[in-house]
Amino acid sequence: MKELNQYFPADYEQSRRSFRGHLSEIKDKWPDAELTTVSIGKEADNTIDMISSKATKTNEQVLFFTTGEHGIEGYAGAAMIQLFVDEYLHHVDPETTGICFIHALNPWGMKNFRRVTENNVDLNRNYLYNRSSVPEDVNKNYEKESELFLPDGKITDLSQEKMKLQAQLVKALAEEGYSAIKEAKGMGQFEYERGVYYGGEKEEETAIFLKKIQNQLLSDYPRVIHMDWHTALGPTNEITMVVSSEDERGEEELNAKYDLNNIQKFTPEKVKGDSTNHFHKLKNEQYSTNYLFSALFEFGTFGTGKQAELREFMTIVLENRLYWEGAENEGDRDWILAEFREMFYPLSEEWKKSVLHEGRKGMEAVLGEEGILKK
Ligand SMILES: [Zn+2]
Repeated sequence: MKELNQYFPADYEQSRRSFRGHLSEIKDKWPDAELTTVSIGKEADNTIDMISSKATKTNEQVLFFTTGEHGIEGYAGAAMIQLFVDEYLHHVDPETTGICFIHALNPWGMKNFRRVTENNVDLNRNYLYNRSSVPEDVNKNYEKESELFLPDGKITDLSQEKMKLQAQLVKALAEEGYSAIKEAKGMGQFEYERGVYYGGEKEEETAIFLKKIQNQLLSDYPRVIHMDWHTALGPTNEITMVVSSEDERGEEELNAKYDLNNIQKFTPEKVKGDSTNHFHKLKNEQYSTNYLFSALFEFGTFGTGKQAELREFMTIVLENRLYWEGAENEGDRDWILAEFREMFYPLSEEWKKSVLHEGRKGMEAVLGEEGILKK
């Protein structure tokens, strides 16, 4: 087994270099495999990299991994691709199974250790199947809490800011219950380009790219098995599978089928613009005879419960404010960035080990059940 840190590089460039390095090993089984590199955004060196190949005989199914949709979360995602290549590649039948691995859907965010794109867009609020279907009052809950979610000046005294923010959050919770804030988060907002959970005013380049790939895979293969890798949500140091509300199966059925402890479904109507929702919708409307498995896989950090939820909101809001307005004291800046890192790409060995361990569990449960891994 490789050293732990080989799976968790220090920066985007190093992660991309390892990813590109997988091509030769993949070519041993899929000789036609190719590396595709696409520049995204303002800097040419920020790229989405993709290694893909058709099955060598018949295209019965395809294994599809996506990583780094939320920038900084891509480090754990890239580790999953590496783990798959190291430990599971030889269990896949290249004659019937194609592959498509994507590194860093949001390369700018991964490089800069942010979750959003360089346009401040949360990509998982940007894949609207039909932009006109967004209800007009989509920003309603957000507006109510806009004081909380929008940056308002340079951070001068973090301990005071934290107390103020916490008081605001507690008050918002007392007034509205947890749901208003949560709904604002899940729905995103399409109005304040400097606010958190911004879905963007138009499609991001990445969304255009990924929609094209989703279409391509559904048209090339009758079965598509997709794992979209993320971090932060769910119990600490455990994997959680999050299934689109467009998937017709209920939680009970999913629990019976996949051998995983944590399975959640997106609540219908509560999350807008998620890429797996888009994938399912596309499949249901244009490729109805296909089989699609597409879900998010999250590696938990802060954990669950009210305390963790409060810490998440604080972290997201403070990091966004720091990005736009800055902080007077270096120490305050470092504290916010360290907390953000803790939420999406922790430095602790324990977490990294859990990612590999739980990642194996997730891949075996899903890819075993879906017939990607030969018994
Ligand atoms: Zn994410």
